[in-house]
Amino acid sequence: MTISNTKLTLPTSIDDVHVLNFIDGQWVPPSTGAYLKNVSPLTGKSISPLPDSDSADVDMAVSAAKGAFPKWSTTSVDERAGILLKISELIKENIPLLSEFESIDQGKPVRLAMMHEIPSCAYLFAQFAEIITRGIAETSQTMPFIHTPASIMKPEPCKVEFTTQHVPAGVAAIITPWNVPLQMVCIKLAPCLAAGNTCVIKPTELSSINAYLLTHILKAAGVPDGVVNVVFGSGPRAGEPLVKHRDVRLVSFTGGTKTGFRIGSLAGGMGKRVGLELGGKNPNLVFDDCDIDHAVATGIRSAFHNQGEICLCASRHYVQRGIYDKYVEMFREGVQAQLKVGDPKAPDTYFSAVVSQNHMDKITRYIRLAQEEGATVEFLVKRDDPKIKHISSDGRLTIEGFEGGFFVAPTLITNISHKSRVMQEEIFGPVVCVLPFDDEDEGVALANDTEYGLGASVWSLDKEKLDRVMGRINAGTVWGNAWFALSFSMPFGGMKNSGNVREFGNWGIEFFTETKTLSKHV
Ligand code: NAD
Repeated sequence: MTISNTKLTLPTSIDDVHVLNFIDGQWVPPSTGAYLKNVSPLTGKSISPLPDSDSADVDMAVSAAKGAFPKWSTTSVDERAGILLKISELIKENIPLLSEFESIDQGKPVRLAMMHEIPSCAYLFAQFAEIITRGIAETSQTMPFIHTPASIMKPEPCKVEFTTQHVPAGVAAIITPWNVPLQMVCIKLAPCLAAGNTCVIKPTELSSINAYLLTHILKAAGVPDGVVNVVFGSGPRAGEPLVKHRDVRLVSFTGGTKTGFRIGSLAGGMGKRVGLELGGKNPNLVFDDCDIDHAVATGIRSAFHNQGEICLCASRHYVQRGIYDKYVEMFREGVQAQLKVGDPKAPDTYFSAVVSQNHMDKITRYIRLAQEEGATVEFLVKRDDPKIKHISSDGRLTIEGFEGGFFVAPTLITNISHKSRVMQEEIFGPVVCVLPFDDEDEGVALANDTEYGLGASVWSLDKEKLDRVMGRINAGTVWGNAWFALSFSMPFGGMKNSGNVREFGNWGIEFFTETKTLSKHV
């Protein structure tokens, strides 16, 4: 087992971070010489600009990954597992720093990153070390056959043994979004490396700082040069040449549905394997026989966790008419009483800035659309919160100490048509619509009436009904009396326009392997 002796030194202040591409084990400026402006959503102030890479950088990165593949793909499982465990250890040692940078770069409260997201990155590398040490599950079968030992005219009975073998697939492209930036990279990188592939990562251009810090962690953990390469920049300029590169065998993408479809058509048109984890517009179906306290408390979290910027956030709540008014009232009161908005470093802050000015503009466009359509739009912040200096008519918040930041109020919309664009399109922000329904068939029909199928929750204390309705919902993950209960050992992915692949655990690693069938005369 290789244990690296390279000392890990990470910048301790965001002002000391200067992002460079990571190609063949070296930190290099983009060949374009150009950089993308990068600001913290908390303050609107500049942080490290990002290399505005193009196809020349991608070519160098893919070439390094291709060169490193023969050796990495044949390293022993013990050696690879040892390196993965070291990566896990180094992430764990740096959870506070990575959490702070994730907050500055992405806008979320530090506590949120620290509680789950960053620790989960450490967990993923350890988990895949364990998976490869245990061995990827193979299938085998022995069956009678006829063979031709001497003459094709005189075949003889025999037995043939079939076995499968998962082998590394080649150079992978990993393209990720901004909402849980480091975790999104690690969900793909850990199985990719564990399976013996090399890769080029194109992280989001909106919150790339921790992907850059990860390159230092990888180097210090002993990942050989060229095995992981990171090229920063925009989707069209850096991402697309990566997808189209002839030496890239598979593309693992998480992001918006429109982008995913484009990537799918480009990669699919070249015969590459392409895994797409895409958008969602997830329903929360609440029956009048539920535990309403539990349903409301979890419903609030499902709507506003990470400012609603989680692909699994429930943005459409359908509540059975008998408890509809009570649900809305409890929801409103619950948010106003409990959900503290503002300073990302305060330990009791639940809700902070959205990722960018553009994204804030997109969210508030939907809020204005709802207002124009005559819906009831409420901004659920404490009116007497001294830190909230101003709420604009479309929900923008001015927070004391963070005046340049991109804050949008937790927004509740009622009296809106199910067919409204606000109900049908992914907003990916802190906007939740709550509508009534009458009976099970109507509730299920409304929940399923969407182009997406990522996640859904059903709330009822009637066990039979709960099982029946969970079975009727078309989504990759369906919760019963819960939300966001995820296991990294269970398959995760979307139906319909929410994706075409399953990640996590065995499903995650299988994506990054070629499965061979070996058929041997015994
Ligand atoms: P996006 O589609 O705009 O960008 C995702 C990534 O793709 C970025 O790195 C971007 O630079 C790159 N990209 C853009 N155009 C490209 C192109 N033509 N070729 C190659 N790469 C390109 O998505 P986003 O705004 O970063 O993220 C938000 C979306 O991600 C939401 O729709 C959300 O639901 C989705 N998401 C899904 C999951 C999931 O597991 N299903 C998880 C997180 C986020």
